[in-house]
Amino acid sequence: MIRTLIIGAGGVGRVVVHKCVQNSDVFGKIILASRTLSRCEGIKAELPHANIEVHTVDADITSEVSKLISTCQADIVINVALPYQDLTIMDACIQTNTPYLDTANYEHPDEAKFEYKLQWARDEKFKKAGIMGLLGSGFDPGATNVFCAFAQKHYFDEIHTIDILDCNGGDHGYPFATNFNPEINLREVSAKGRYWQNGEWIETEPMEIMQVWDYPEIGEKDSYLLYHEEMESLVKHIKGLKRIRFFMTFGQSYLTHMKCLENVGMLGIEEVEHKGQKIVPMQFLATLLPDPSTLGERTTGKTNIGIVAEGLKDGVKKKIYIYQVKDHQDCYKETNSQGVSYSTGVPAMIGAKLMLEGKWSGEGVFNMEQLDPDPFMDEMNKQGLPWKIKEL
Ligand code: NDP
Repeated sequence: MIRTLIIGAGGVGRVVVHKCVQNSDVFGKIILASRTLSRCEGIKAELPHANIEVHTVDADITSEVSKLISTCQADIVINVALPYQDLTIMDACIQTNTPYLDTANYEHPDEAKFEYKLQWARDEKFKKAGIMGLLGSGFDPGATNVFCAFAQKHYFDEIHTIDILDCNGGDHGYPFATNFNPEINLREVSAKGRYWQNGEWIETEPMEIMQVWDYPEIGEKDSYLLYHEEMESLVKHIKGLKRIRFFMTFGQSYLTHMKCLENVGMLGIEEVEHKGQKIVPMQFLATLLPDPSTLGERTTGKTNIGIVAEGLKDGVKKKIYIYQVKDHQDCYKETNSQGVSYSTGVPAMIGAKLMLEGKWSGEGVFNMEQLDPDPFMDEMNKQGLPWKIKEL
């Protein structure tokens, strides 16, 4: 029987477990491991009839992860812990010759900078071990990369511009909360913006560039230019690309809270001394904020994430919009989770399913757009993330 090891029992981990259990003919036995055992037990209790075993692991320690992979004889590791653990888990997969998948690229805890360099540097070792590593199999990165590959395969000879558009039109009723891990989310959002044009990266101040976009099934929303990790791989793999940008929606209240927290130093990632104790302000803030994995019940509204691609087909200009709309409450009914965790966890499950079925295969590390988009797009329609295409 196939044995699937899932590391990380947060908001995304819960969805991955639910979806793997729904596809148990492919995933077989589920081994869920995380730092805090009670969180694994909580998820297991939601699925009393499923074949799930739980473990505690400190995924910052490669030898602990290797030992766990060996004892549970995992056929694949789905990493939905935090980006800080990517390298240690990848190294454990190399040591044990076990295929690997994650949803977010590596970031060092002491530096708010995420990039693929150190993960791509493991390509040779993955090749030598004869295993596949799939990087960024969430929604963005993840489904958005696949949308780009799908556009390239079926709609264009050359894509000239891509805008990735991420809208969360949901409301959780709290004055301020994040939809995925607060520390990772706030590091991403408060950083300088960056986009790629004519072969170079152009940096902007945080939230400097805003455009209003009319999101189908949601309406008009202010959308701000951010740097986002999928652009780093897409500029390498999409033919003829001249510009790529990423936009995410934020309400005024969110931005005002964030600015205020930043102004008083609460987004700091360096240790400060507080009454004789060392604390990292951002980590303390994350402790105070609502746990994203508990937002499901109270979140209403929809998410809409997609890409607009413009380019040439048979010498004629063409522009298309591929997008996916998801209702937060539908996600909660199905998996006890809000839409952001859902739309990350489902693509993680789909990527792993395609690997286990041999529909996506290879040796080395891969970004999503390097693989055939068709089976992934088919699975999205079947697994709760149906998409649409509009000619603009
Ligand atoms: P959570 O904070 O809810 O969950 C993270 C989980 O990882 C927790 O269970 C946590 O344990 C566990 N963990 C943290 N450190 C360790 C460690 N050293 N060893 C073992 N387990 C550990 O985060 P989310 O579920 O919201 O996010 C999970 C991942 O998904 C993140 O990498 C995030 O960046 C990514 N993501 C990707 C998106 C995409 O579209 N590609 C979108 C949203 C998220 P504990 O409970 O003890 O803290």
